[in-house]
Parts: sequence; structure tokens; C-alpha cells
Amino acid sequence: MKRSALFALFLASGLSTAVVAQQPPAPAAGPPRGAAPAGPSLPAPEPIERISGNVYKIFGGGGNTLVVVEDAGVTLVDTKLPGNGQAILAEVRKVTDKPITTIIATHSHPDHIGSTDFIRAQYPNVRIIMSEGTAAEMVANPQTNPALLPTETYKDRLTIGHGDERIELYHTGVGHTGGDTFVVVPSEKLLFMGDVMAWNMAPFLPAGGAAAIAEETERLVAAVEPLGIETVVEGHGHVNDWAGLQRLARFNRALVTEARAAYDRGDPPGAAVAELQKNPDFAPLLDTRIKKGLEYGNTPLARAHMNVNVAYAEFAGEQAGFGIANGAPLPLTDKHKGSDPKDTAPPTPEMLASSVAK
Ligand SMILES: [Zn+2]
Ligand SMILES: [Zn+2]
Repeated sequence: MKRSALFALFLASGLSTAVVAQQPPAPAAGPPRGAAPAGPSLPAPEPIERISGNVYKIFGGGGNTLVVVEDAGVTLVDTKLPGNGQAILAEVRKVTDKPITTIIATHSHPDHIGSTDFIRAQYPNVRIIMSEGTAAEMVANPQTNPALLPTETYKDRLTIGHGDERIELYHTGVGHTGGDTFVVVPSEKLLFMGDVMAWNMAPFLPAGGAAAIAEETERLVAAVEPLGIETVVEGHGHVNDWAGLQRLARFNRALVTEARAAYDRGDPPGAAVAELQKNPDFAPLLDTRIKKGLEYGNTPLARAHMNVNVAYAEFAGEQAGFGIANGAPLPLTDKHKGSDPKDTAPPTPEMLASSVAK
């Protein structure tokens, strides 16, 4: 697999170092100016596929890219790792020859904004929109390529376009990053999640925020519920649905609740995970298999252990969060070692061989 290449890219982009050093939340915003384009070993984007109506997806090559084709042009949500701009445009050309008019960034991580500069060079008037929090994280990172920076930002809520061509942006709190944006296409009852929902598992919390992400997810569900959302597209992985998002919201909340109870009892983090495992509703979020495309990381069960550890660190008033070292997540605190190390260990060859798509 391209595990080492992908990890190298995370390192090169500064995500890992920014997170491990726990600087003010400023994870990553692309390679330094003039850096060589990403190597050929990166996973290539998959062919474009229609999800619903005028909305398409291009998965792979980093985060998923959403493509919304409207009268005046094309809106892209997220632009994958650096080096994928040509491939994204080639896929879009299979369904329309309209210009790219808007790029929305769900957050500041390099696997979601990496090819914005390439597309901007082809379409110099393109609107580049992100939350104030995401823009602040990018500006705070001295490695940020200025061509990735926004032309517009918003605080909590933004509507782009009119009538059937409306696209709604929501920022409902701090979680995966300080600037997470959720994108709704109301005409298709479709919601794009960024990394707050990826691979149908608990979100990665590189800067901490186990309690915060429970609130963020609940606020999102409350905000978009009146829109009758049916299709929920994950930031990596798959097309999920409204029930899947509701389950994730319940899980994020239950994880904090069980972590608090176990912490107060003096039990190790694994005890909280054991409580979560008693609820059959949560079984998909506690899968013990590696998901395809996550070969550098964890199983859903390992992610749950990680997030309980994040919660414990927060309860103790410690620095909370995870970096990535040697291809595996590394807790920023070593005080709470209650989870069995194998629960958060790098994947074994056997696990990789048995990785599953869903
Ligand atoms: Zn991502
Ligand atoms: Zn991310």
C-alpha cells in the first residue's frame, strides 16, 4: 500500500508536527511554495459518479470531492491532496464543460485543500470559500501556500446562490478542526460532512475535543433536520444516510457520557468502550476491521479507544489529542494508559489484508 507515501505527505504538510507540538490549532495547509508536486505513488482519484440530480462525487486521492453542476458553473467541495488538480478537472469534464466557479473547503487539512492552487490557476476568478476558523488556521501556518487562501470567509452560516441552486454552509462548532464546514445541497436533500464523518466511524480528534465534537454533531443534526436530509456524504469513505449521521451523533454523545462515568469510577478508558459495545446500535462504529483507504490508521474500534483517551485527558485538564508517528496515532498524553495498547497499535499485515470497503 501507499502507507509510507501517505504518511510522508502528512509529515511534509506539517499536520503531524503541528498536532504533536500542539501549537495553537493550525494543522496544515499544503506544502511550502515551490515544493515538488506530490509523487505518483499517491492513491489516484476514482472516476466521477453521480450521487443525485446535479451532484457528483470524486472519491479517493485524499478526501472526497463533491461536484455540484449548476447553470453558471461548477462548485467543488474539497480538492484532495496536492497533485490531484488535473485529475479532478479531467473527471469534471466527463460530465460538464462549464467552468469551475466556486471551491468550498470543509477544513484546513492538506488532503482536503491540496489541489485548490492548481484549479485556481486555471480559473483565476474562482470563489474560494471557507469558515473564518479554517482561514485562521491556514494563515497561522507559515507553510501555507497563499494560493490556497480564501477569497471569502463566513462565521456560522452562509448561503451561496438562489432557489434550487442554493448551497448552504454551516459551521456548528469546533471538533475535527477549529473550522469544520458542513455543506448542504437542499434541492437534493444532501449533506457533505468533511472529516467529522469519515469511514463511518468516530471522528479523528487531532487537537482534542471529545466533548466539543459531540456538541458540534448534535448542533448540525438540529440545524439541518428541517431540510429533510436523506443523503450524507462522508469526507472519506462512502455515501451514508440520515440514519447513519444520527447514529454518529448518538455515538459521539454516548462516548463522552460513558468516558465521564468510567473516569469518575476510576476505571480505565477501555471500560467506557466496553459499555459502548453493549449497545447494538453502535456496532458499525465499533467494527474491528480496517476500512479501505485508512491503511495508515485505525479500525473503528481503535478510534473509539482513542477518543475515550482524548476525553480522559480533557477531564484531567491535560493536553488532549493525537498526532501521527510511524504511521500510527500517538496520544499527546501518556497518563491514561488504560486502553490495551493493541487497541490503538498500527495495523498488522493481517489487518491490512482483510481491510473492508464498508
Ligand atoms: Zn481527511
Ligand atoms: Zn481532516
